[in-house]
Amino acid sequence: MKIHEYQAKEILQKYGVVTPKGIACFSVDEAVSAAQQLGGKVWVVKAQIYAGGRGKGGGVKVAKSLDEVRQRASEILNMRLVTHQTGPEGQIVHRLFIEQGVPIEKEFYVGMVVDRSRQRVCLITSSEGGMEIEKVAAETPEKIHKVYVDPIAGLSQQQAVEATQKIGIPAQNLPQAVTLLQSLYEAFDESDASLLEINPLTLTAEQQVMALDAKMNFDDNALFRHPEIVALRDLDEEDPLEIEASKHELSYISLDGNIGCLVNGAGLAMATMDIIKLYGGNPANFLDVGGGATAEKVTEAFKLMLSNPKLQAILVNIFGGIMKCDVIAQGIVMAARDVHLAVPLIVRLEGTHVEIGKKILADSGLPIISADNMADAAQKAVNATKAKSSSPQS
Ligand code: ADP
Ligand code: MG
Repeated sequence: MKIHEYQAKEILQKYGVVTPKGIACFSVDEAVSAAQQLGGKVWVVKAQIYAGGRGKGGGVKVAKSLDEVRQRASEILNMRLVTHQTGPEGQIVHRLFIEQGVPIEKEFYVGMVVDRSRQRVCLITSSEGGMEIEKVAAETPEKIHKVYVDPIAGLSQQQAVEATQKIGIPAQNLPQAVTLLQSLYEAFDESDASLLEINPLTLTAEQQVMALDAKMNFDDNALFRHPEIVALRDLDEEDPLEIEASKHELSYISLDGNIGCLVNGAGLAMATMDIIKLYGGNPANFLDVGGGATAEKVTEAFKLMLSNPKLQAILVNIFGGIMKCDVIAQGIVMAARDVHLAVPLIVRLEGTHVEIGKKILADSGLPIISADNMADAAQKAVNATKAKSSSPQS
């Protein structure tokens, strides 16, 4: 789960992380009164969307008077902000964050992610903070420093010192930076975050070490113990299909292609998308219906996929282990009838009771294309989309 910058900053402030003062707003008038309330002479008007790269896309603007705050806020609010993280369709800005403008002396980068293969949180620091960290990583990887944190001991003083020294934080600011890193780690650990990014971490002209930007993502599997984080969820920022899927406990991710995938098990779902690609097709989604999918769940999954206008075929790839193939076949037939399926449906079933399952599909009278293995299924799905796009449109 993702949250907005201003919400991440509120969480981090509780751990003692210093950030500029700011107020979240939903209208231009609110933005102007927020600036008045904050005081000072310089403000930054910041689009709040679940994506980075806002500065480059025109979603972060400095304002030097209240009139300018009004002007910038009206430009940014409701704009379709396109950044390298939103995709070409961009994201409409519904919320603003008005922050005190801070005089910047130097910008650094700090990130934390869970490194699954090492089973550790990786602390990443760089002297090259600002808006081009992806470029730094690609072109000058020697400027990116990594420290792996022991989950029992936490981020040690020594590690934090090393991480800050390597990026050239001046000696007199080191104690502040070290404390800040340790606070960040504590926040990351206690909130079950999966990603935390402070870019830039700033040394201000007044020699204050401050988080100017903040991004936090959380592990969905741990949200049950963080109702306060769940309450921050902003549905405006999420894909409507993914919201619908989460109501039915389906793991669904929208993609750009035209072949809907309905699979049990995340690994098999990934392999299914790979093999579709291998045969020249493009998956429309990732969808894992889970081990114990019921007929109702399968029906919901079909509805989700069919609400995508780009969909041209559906590939069902199920391995009946705990779940038996005949039960799944019944679910597929029920769902296909229920949703009046109008796109080719390719089904590959394997596992317990597979013969009975295949017979149920064959006897259903539905135009289901049966496949013998994954490669066969993928090829048939790709061919079905080709046939569909080359047929004359009435
Ligand atoms: P993004 O990473 O999405 O582009 P940031 O919050 O990092 O958004 O803002 C972009 C840039 O704007 C920052 O790198 C920083 O230079 C500047 N900036 C952001 N907030 C402030 C602030 N409160 N005061 C001064 N400059 C800021
Ligand atoms: Mg940033």
